Amino acid sequence: MNTTAAYAAITAKTPLVPYSIERRDPGPHEVLIDILYCGVCHSDIHQVRDEWGGSIFPMVPGHEIVGTVVKAGRHVSKWKIGDTVGVGCFVDSCHECEACKEGEEQFCEAGMSATYNSYEQDGKTLTYGGYSTCITVSEDYVLRIPAGLPLERVAPLLCAGITTYSPLRHFGVKAGDYVAIVGLGGLGHMGVKIAKAMGAFVTVLSHSPGKRDDALALGADDFIATGEKGVFEVNAKRFDFILDTISAKHDYNDYLNLLRRDGTMVLVGIPEPMPLAAGSLVMQRRKLAGSLIGGIRETQEMLDFCAEHNVVSDVEVIPIQKVNEAYERVLKSDVHYRFVIDIASLKKS
Ligand code: NAP
Ligand code: ZN
Repeated sequence: MNTTAAYAAITAKTPLVPYSIERRDPGPHEVLIDILYCGVCHSDIHQVRDEWGGSIFPMVPGHEIVGTVVKAGRHVSKWKIGDTVGVGCFVDSCHECEACKEGEEQFCEAGMSATYNSYEQDGKTLTYGGYSTCITVSEDYVLRIPAGLPLERVAPLLCAGITTYSPLRHFGVKAGDYVAIVGLGGLGHMGVKIAKAMGAFVTVLSHSPGKRDDALALGADDFIATGEKGVFEVNAKRFDFILDTISAKHDYNDYLNLLRRDGTMVLVGIPEPMPLAAGSLVMQRRKLAGSLIGGIRETQEMLDFCAEHNVVSDVEVIPIQKVNEAYERVLKSDVHYRFVIDIASLKKS
């Protein structure tokens, strides 16, 4: 066992505090990873505050992990000591169901083992995430980080990157398509960069009018401030594809009306429920769908795609001692555009 420094939420109502966990020595097919950086996802906040229900405490969040392999089990064939690797939103799944066999482990029928706030496949060992100095993971659930990329800017690809790449690919977005990215936060800014790299004409829809210049600098072709009068009427039937990353309750119907005939809107944000009017879909044969992160194979494909297109996240690197402050800023939509924890700050403390 390895005693490991971490930050944890002890309850849903208290700030994260220094905490200590045990990491097991790697089994025959596992690796031990020394964590360098971990991104801060809005899902960390939803779960720490038990906004989805069923949170397990104490909770060590973090599922955008980049680090170095420091120990490998005796049967590990994919990794060697010193490799730079990533871990995303899950650390295991059943390996046997149809979803796992098709490389869509995030939809594992037995239930994937999420990186934190979850259990290992034994059903009883609690998982702890990347706000910690090391993690033990099965070699099949580890990603290769392409060489030459700044690691603190790669960490957010492990969740924000794959969560936006997967629906853009799955729903066949192609060069020349009119794509709207709704919400310019961690997911949204990655959606802009990835959709742009796919050749789409990208428009950001934001409730923060001050983000216009940033949106354009990130690569968007156009920007719509959703608070302005009449914007939903003026832009009706404009887009082929809408990716909705908003973390707070909002009216889907307004956005659906921006889709042209046969267009698709995909929800990736997970706010509280909101009623849907059938007419928003019926009138132009529109489609509404959802998407959850991505499988291991697709996550590797996304990392390679990002390396090829020089796509990385825009980050604000923080010491772990500032994580509670960072949460407050994320909640105010004041994130530019992902907080990433430098885990060296935890090793020193
Ligand atoms: P984030 O960085 O906080 O970004 C969310 C953005 O939503 C904000 O920056 C803001 O953009 C917009 N927004 C916030 N409050 C709003 C409001 N009241 N009205 C309208 N827009 C609002 O969060 P994130 O890390 O990108 O995550 C976004 C959501 O995706 C969260 O719910 C998270 O749990 C979920 N998520 C889902 C998956 C999945 O697999 N499906 C994976 C990761 C995360 P503007 O300022 O531009 O309006
Ligand atoms: Zn996430």
